[in-house]
Amino acid sequence: MSTPKKFVLLGATGSIGASTLRVLRKHSDKLQLIGVSANSRARELADIVDEFDVAHAHLNRKIDDMPNFREGTNLTFEAEALDHLAAHPEAEIVVVALVGAAGLRPTLAALEAGKKVVLANKESLVVGGQLITETARRTGGQIIPADSEHNAVFQCTMGQPTNSLDSIILTASGGAFRDLPVGELKNVTLKQALNHPNWLMGPKVTIDSATMANKGLELIEAHWLFGLAPEKLEAVIHPPSIVHAFVRFVDGCCFAQLSPPSMTFALQNSLLHPKRFPGVEPTLDFSDPLDLSFSPPCLDRYPCLKLAQQALQEGGSAPLVFNAANELAVEAFQMNRIGFIQISSIIESSLSIMEPCNPKSLNELLDHDQRVRRLASERINSLSD
Ligand code: NAD
Ligand code: MG
Repeated sequence: MSTPKKFVLLGATGSIGASTLRVLRKHSDKLQLIGVSANSRARELADIVDEFDVAHAHLNRKIDDMPNFREGTNLTFEAEALDHLAAHPEAEIVVVALVGAAGLRPTLAALEAGKKVVLANKESLVVGGQLITETARRTGGQIIPADSEHNAVFQCTMGQPTNSLDSIILTASGGAFRDLPVGELKNVTLKQALNHPNWLMGPKVTIDSATMANKGLELIEAHWLFGLAPEKLEAVIHPPSIVHAFVRFVDGCCFAQLSPPSMTFALQNSLLHPKRFPGVEPTLDFSDPLDLSFSPPCLDRYPCLKLAQQALQEGGSAPLVFNAANELAVEAFQMNRIGFIQISSIIESSLSIMEPCNPKSLNELLDHDQRVRRLASERINSLSD
């Protein structure tokens, strides 16, 4: 029997973190968790350290009532320590499961150290796709997409000649308001937006699914992962979330990957790639009727998707602006400072006000990100006064 692969899990206390731990419980003979991180949920982080006997833990923010961590745990708090954990010499794999542009630095640190990065954090590719892909090429680090749609494409393209790929179609559930009359979107509440029809996910990605900003971010993510031009990347509404993506090859044949709407399938595939083992949960049962319906998204209902497509087409700093404005707008919506339909107006005004530019280095990207956030928060303040 081979020795378990050592891995680090950044964002261990979140939804992707929990699904990763389910895969680990099932395959503890093949994987060993050596480091974990969280933002502020110290108690949950301490429990994970206990359960899996983890050596290194990083917490972004110390809380007043800090729990005791298992004796001997190397517990860190400084921002640089997160980068060190992502580049830990003993780790073969780094799962990046934290949310937002905060994923950019540790993703780069892991790739700089030549790691295999299981990437759930799509925002890092949206903000720094060029830098990330160039870093991976230079160091030999590998990016394995864990986002379910991109993992589906990864599986469908495995073993196919790279020049045989024609286009990619990502599926989307349509989110919480798929069937609501467009005129009623102005009245929806946070509670309603968090009520996703199929997936159980963290709050930010659930709201992003309701606006379809999520699919927009994923189209940009796919551009960097699979090297296709914007017009070769499509999104289609598929309410049951069973088909995760289609790959169209140059000869006109389409491949798809199907599994139930749970992230354990994509995460297990990414962590144990290229081998396959029994999964954590039951898979599809074809003796039950299966709904395989698809329809194009209505852009009047989903203006965030249209803005993301425009940002992808424009390139340069536009995807970064889209992402930063969206992160701030979603936060403001969660704090009840703006309404649901104002999320797209904040993104739109940020995209039209920010001068196009082409930040390349990590510092330039982070500086520009901060500039967009300042602008978007002024706009939010003016709306919520
Ligand atoms: P979540 O909110 O449930 O968890 C986020 C994790 O990141 C938590 O552990 C939190 O402590 C940590 N974190 C938050 N802010 C941080 C910061 N500033 N610095 C360091 N750590 C921080 O989110 P999630 O739903 O698990 O999503 C994580 C990422 O995976 C997102 O980029 C999301 O788009 C992507 N994703 C999620 C799903 C899903 O099913 N949840 C599916 C595909 C992709
Ligand atoms: Mg996805």
